[in-house]
Amino acid sequence: MLIVQKYGGSSVADGSRIRNVAGIIAENYSCGHDMVVVLSAQGDTTDELLEKAAELNPSPSRRELDMLLATGEQQSIALMAMCLESMGLPAVSLTGWQAGVRTNAEYGVARIRRVDTERLRRELDKKRIVLVAGFQGVNKFDDYTTLGRGGSDTTAVALAAALHADRCQIFTDVEGVYTADPRKVPGARKLDEITYDEMLELASMGAQVLMNRSVQMAKRYGVELEVLSSLVRAPGTKVKEVTRTMEEMKITGIAKDENVARLTVAGVADKPGVAFRLLNTVAKAGVDVDMIIQANGREDTNDISFVVAQDHAAMAYDALMARQSAIGFDHISVDRDIAKVSVVGAGMMSSSSIAAVVFEAFNDEHINIQMINTSEIKISCVIDAASADRAVKAIHRKFFEV
Ligand code: ASP
Ligand code: MG
Repeated sequence: MLIVQKYGGSSVADGSRIRNVAGIIAENYSCGHDMVVVLSAQGDTTDELLEKAAELNPSPSRRELDMLLATGEQQSIALMAMCLESMGLPAVSLTGWQAGVRTNAEYGVARIRRVDTERLRRELDKKRIVLVAGFQGVNKFDDYTTLGRGGSDTTAVALAAALHADRCQIFTDVEGVYTADPRKVPGARKLDEITYDEMLELASMGAQVLMNRSVQMAKRYGVELEVLSSLVRAPGTKVKEVTRTMEEMKITGIAKDENVARLTVAGVADKPGVAFRLLNTVAKAGVDVDMIIQANGREDTNDISFVVAQDHAAMAYDALMARQSAIGFDHISVDRDIAKVSVVGAGMMSSSSIAAVVFEAFNDEHINIQMINTSEIKISCVIDAASADRAVKAIHRKFFEV
């Protein structure tokens, strides 16, 4: 069996963690499996490298930044190889370049184009444990590129797809994906399985277990993932296309996102083209918009409200104000004191009563719903930020603690 494993920064943070991971790798290798192991930079190394760069140059060229950041993962793979060697196991470390990870030219946010697997195959044929630096590749100029924060997950999925691996395991510091944040909701349960689509919805709402792009890639190439802990030996959560539990489980998880803000553009004319001009302006500023609501205002005007990531609120506001007279509106108010609570589940498609149960939970807690958005597998509500944790707990009780 060919197994691709990925270990995150916390799993290789220091010598004893590296030894612990080497133990897991050794166990699998001694069962006769071919092992390709992707590593992240140790602990906070990537952040520390960014700080070092900022000290010398507040806006370094992205090429040089990638050259620097790529060193973090290289430390991890070399150290892991040495640790495995000391245990008498054959291991070899490869940079993204040596492992054949080819990306587009975009430094800092590079996308993997293909993986040339000859070298990887050759090393596997020699029965070596292959350690690959995550988060990096090489572009057409033969320069190092990095894949964006959290990019090692994507490296693992790309290698698993290219090598047609039998298993792709993502080791991290949590035991899997939960029905809600276990630090906030004591009754939260670990899920055995979750679909790609559910995972994507939960991940984009702050359940930061896997980088979104890695899940998208896994879905596209049909790579089944398993998220599990490197510290606790227990089965994790499988991420796949269809899950066995889909039919019985009405919902899969509840997440809250506090990084949201609402912009209300008041006094826009009630005529064709206004919404286009408004949202086009926001889109051109590079801001993603969620939950658009139009309400009738006074006379011939409307108010248009929408939700953006909180750290993009100022950008959206400035872009709109710069075009106030061209778009035609009275004023904009920005509300940062909100949170988005989302309920996700592929089982929703076949059950219409979910929304009613969710709204009942809000009602029980006397929480006012300010905005609602639904998709086939998700219901999101905007409420005031102070009530968010209470809302998640109340919904969790309704669905999981009965
Ligand atoms: N070391 C990189 C980061 O911290 C990539 C990763 O950990 O996946 O973002
Ligand atoms: Mg990381």
